[in-house]
Amino acid sequence: MEENIKKELIKIVGPDNFTEALIDLVSYSYDASANDHRPLAAVRPTSTVQVADIMRLAWENEIPVTPRGAGTGLAGAAVPVQGGLVMDMALMNRIIAIRIPDRLVVLEPGVVYEDLEKALLPYGFFFPPDPASGKVCTIGGNVATNAGGIRGAKYGVTRDYVLALEVVLADGRILKTGASCMKSVSGYDLTRLFTGSEGTLGVITLITLKISPRPLAERTATAMFSDLTDAGRAVSDIMHSGVIPSVLEVLDENALKVLREQGGIPMPAARAMILTETDGYTETEAASQMDKIVEVFKKNRAFAVNKAGSKAEAQSLWRIRKSVGSVAAKLRPANISEDVAVPISRVPDLLNGISRIATEMEIPFVIFGHAGDGNIHPRLMYDPADPKQTDRVHRAAEGIFRLACGLGGTLTGEHGIGLSKAPYMEIEHSRVSLDVMRAVKQALDPKNILNPGKMRL
Ligand SMILES: Cc1cc2nc3c(=O)[nH]c(=O)nc-3n(C[C@H](O)[C@H](O)[C@H](O)COP(=O)(O)OP(=O)(O)OC[C@H]3O[C@@H](n4cnc5c(N)ncnc54)[C@H](O)[C@@H]3O)c2cc1C
Repeated sequence: MEENIKKELIKIVGPDNFTEALIDLVSYSYDASANDHRPLAAVRPTSTVQVADIMRLAWENEIPVTPRGAGTGLAGAAVPVQGGLVMDMALMNRIIAIRIPDRLVVLEPGVVYEDLEKALLPYGFFFPPDPASGKVCTIGGNVATNAGGIRGAKYGVTRDYVLALEVVLADGRILKTGASCMKSVSGYDLTRLFTGSEGTLGVITLITLKISPRPLAERTATAMFSDLTDAGRAVSDIMHSGVIPSVLEVLDENALKVLREQGGIPMPAARAMILTETDGYTETEAASQMDKIVEVFKKNRAFAVNKAGSKAEAQSLWRIRKSVGSVAAKLRPANISEDVAVPISRVPDLLNGISRIATEMEIPFVIFGHAGDGNIHPRLMYDPADPKQTDRVHRAAEGIFRLACGLGGTLTGEHGIGLSKAPYMEIEHSRVSLDVMRAVKQALDPKNILNPGKMRL
């Protein structure tokens, strides 16, 4: 980095919050995907004014800037693929206001998801998206990727809760979007434009989120199926039965086998397992919803249904679901975790199609995911030292993208495009759609300095 720019950056953030130490730059070159590229330097701003000053300097000198939360992204979106500057938002981590009568919270982007959960707990409220990385990922990262989680079927994703944003644009101007109201249709919905924009349109510096009253009662159950199509049909039937479960997760036979053989968990041999949870504000409400779901399971030929009799039993069912990914990852040195989504009624076709593609490519795989919102995570295991297997795994991933989009679905339900899925954008988006996205990028960042090289923009 040029000396004069370095001096200006240090003037803005102070010497402790500027770094070009190799150990830091190596850390900033990764996220949780397989991508990496080293930046020239990194800054850790502590205020919106600092972010604006940094962006003005970057704009004048055409320096690429990649905003970064906790670096837990699974698509390479925080990897500074064109070098330049990483802007680490972790120090902007204050919860500014919890306004229960207004059902909202105002906070800086570096707040960790779990810290927000802890802060809301005493009020009996929560921010529902609940990504599995919640212990470490930031709310800024959640907004920038429109993160989701296991409660998506009932509670939706991050986008459904973002009311207003403060964003620093590429040239350093400060934009305020949205309103602190439950409703607003005033002008274009700029809040939605920046939500899920993966740091390519602006740096988010303040977030206003809608929050929800926390349910007081829960019921958990599992069902085993000897036919994948029956399990898929049960999902679809539940979602139009009048009951919306808070969780509806599916695990395929390979996932169950891996848990049994590698994880030492006594799982029955089945083609699929569904794990579900209902919630409500009274025990009766949660229990009666679960009774209805169990009826649907039985109608769809579930051969074993197990309702958790206690909180401890429910937690042990959860541990099984949460360990699938890490247990499966032990099968090979590397894996690709995808997150295609399809309309709920097409889940059986997606599950069967993924099995067919991975089997044809001779790739070990497991399938699990959020069946209730059609977002499925096939995990393909491979050895990167074997070029033929690596090629097959990438072809299998592309086949899965084509399958999902052909079923009316999407490349990504929650992990985002970043670098990993950028080459596949044309599978889902028409030329007109990509032209419009590029026009938006051009209007807001004509010098292409904000997170360049992402989303095929
Ligand atoms: C074990 C594990 C489990 C996961 N489970 C889930 C899950 O259940 N659901 C899910 O959706 N994701 C999941 N993820 C992916 C990841 O945690 C989410 O995408 C999360 O939202 C990323 O947050 P982060 O703070 O780590 O952001 P980063 O990875 O640092 O950044 C992600 C993107 O956001 C941009 N960004 C970050 N902060 C800002 C800002 N202030 N302004 C503008 N742009 C910004 C970055 O430039 C980048 O494009 C998981 C990841 C792991 C490793």
